[in-house]
Amino acid sequence: EAKKKRNRLVVYTKAMDAALAHRRDIEKALLEALLTREGLSCHYQPMIRSADGKVVGLEALARWRHPTLGVVSPVQFIAVAEETGLIGQLGEWVLRTACARVAKLDDLFVAVNVSAVQLRDDGFADMVMRVLLETRLPPKRLELEITETAIVNADGAAVQLLRRLRRTGVRISLDDFGTGYSSLTLLKDLAVDKVKIDRSFVQNATQAGDSAAIVRAVSNLGAALGLCVVAEGVETEQQRAFLSEAGCDELQGFLFSPAVPEDRIERIIGPYPVPAPVPAYSAG
Ligand code: C2E
Ligand code: MG
Ligand code: MG
Ligand code: MG
Repeated sequence: EAKKKRNRLVVYTKAMDAALAHRRDIEKALLEALLTREGLSCHYQPMIRSADGKVVGLEALARWRHPTLGVVSPVQFIAVAEETGLIGQLGEWVLRTACARVAKLDDLFVAVNVSAVQLRDDGFADMVMRVLLETRLPPKRLELEITETAIVNADGAAVQLLRRLRRTGVRISLDDFGTGYSSLTLLKDLAVDKVKIDRSFVQNATQAGDSAAIVRAVSNLGAALGLCVVAEGVETEQQRAFLSEAGCDELQGFLFSPAVPEDRIERIIGPYPVPAPVPAYSAG
C-alpha cells in the first residue's frame, strides 16, 4: 500500500516536472522570438457594424509559431509573458505592428489587447502616444481592450492612466464583459467607451437559459450609459439576428471571419450584408 502511494507520488512529480520543463522551454523560446521577431505575428479579425454589415475595425491578435514547440496559443504565451515580465515588450510590439498596419487603411480602427500587467507601468500612456505618433495613426482610431477583471483589480494609478489616454481620443473597451464582477457604478466611473459581451453569453444566447436575458440587459445598460456594445464570438446567422435585435452595435466572430494574417486583410474587410429576413410562412 505504502509502495503504491509512493509510486503515485513519483508519477505525479514527473508530470509536474514535465509541465515545468515545458513552461521553461516556452519562456526561453518566447524571449528568443521577441529578440529575433521570428515566429511572432499579428493577425486581424474584423468587427462588423450590425446595422449594415460594414466592417468598422479590426482586432489585433498575437500569434506565435515556434519551430519545435509548434503553434502556442496566445492564452498560454500571454500568461508566460505576464509572469516573466516580457509582456511589456510583447505588448508594445503588437501595438506598433497593428497601428502601422491599420494606418495604411482608410477609416478603420484597430483594437489592441492590453494586459493588466502593462497598466501597472507608469510609462504605458507615453509609450502608446509615442507609437501613435510614429505610426501616424490618429488616436481616435485606436481602441485598447482591457478585460473586465483587469479593470476591477486596477489601482487608482491605472485608472488615471486610462483616463489620460482617453482624453487624447484613444478609446477604451471592456473585454470579456460579464465574466468579472464589475458594478454598474464602476462602469460609469471608469468612463469606458465600449463593452464587449463575452463569447460564453453570445454563444448561449440562442439556447435555453439566462444568456439571452443577460445579453439584452447588457445591451440596454450600454445604451443607457451611452456605450457602444459589441458581441464577440458570433458563429451563426441565428445569433447575428438575435444580437442585432437585442441592440448590439457591433459584432465579431467566425460567422464573418476568423483572425487572418496581415496580407489577407483585404479579403476580410467585407461588407457582410444583413441577410433578408426569412418569412415565417408564405402561402405563395
Ligand atoms: P480576446 O481578446 O477576448 O479575443 C477573442 C478570442 O476569441 C480570440 O482568440 C479569437 O480568435 C477568438 N474568437 C473570435 N471569434 C470567435 C468565434 O466566433 N468563436 C470562437 N470559438 N472563438 C472566437 P485568441 O486569438 O486565441 O486569443 C485569446 C486571448 O488571448 C484573447 O482573448 C486575449 O485575451 C489574449 N490575447 C491575444 N493577443 C493578445 C495580445 O496581443 N495582448 C494581450 N495582452 N492579450 C492577447
Ligand atoms: Mg480582445
Ligand atoms: Mg474578448
Ligand atoms: Mg474573450
